Amino acid sequence: MATSAKPRVATVWLGGCSGCHMSLLDLDERLIELADRMELVFSPIADVKEYPANVDVALVEGAVSSEEHEHMARLIRTRSRCVVSFGDCATTGNVTALRNRFSVNDLMKRSYVELAPGGPAMPSTVISPLADTARPLHEVIPVDAFLHGCPPTAEEIWFAVDALLQGRIPELPNVYLRYG
Ligand code: SF4
Repeated sequence: MATSAKPRVATVWLGGCSGCHMSLLDLDERLIELADRMELVFSPIADVKEYPANVDVALVEGAVSSEEHEHMARLIRTRSRCVVSFGDCATTGNVTALRNRFSVNDLMKRSYVELAPGGPAMPSTVISPLADTARPLHEVIPVDAFLHGCPPTAEEIWFAVDALLQGRIPELPNVYLRYG
């Protein structure tokens, strides 16, 4: 555990739809309890620009789908004690990896030129270059725990986070291909 009195927790959004974070918010009133037990040091729901050092627990949503994601994943691993693959896109590639059977160039052309409402867009100016394939997190960095589900339910997230805040790796069931 880092020097802070409370565990320092980060949540990260890589190549996912944010549904796992929405499920995290479904903890509802238990978020207040969590706020007492941990310090949220980085998250899409917090205005923090740079991933900090000495993170105790990192929940990482989404597959690694771009150069930016890969850089972020490696930074997370370097700066975090426990990294959790959060949801099926992170654990298996899931929805994000459905694109893997197509070439990136074909996908970009189809999405940003052929189907672009209002005319062709300029994807290279607005998004990080895509990797050839979207990969589960553990294919890029070592992962300490896997939280399956699309998304994991609030109950599963609570079970996992409660254990992690006590310094334990939760024993979670392997549930694959459970959408919605
Ligand atoms: S696992 Fe499901 S809910 Fe989570 S980011 Fe992927 S598609 Fe969205």
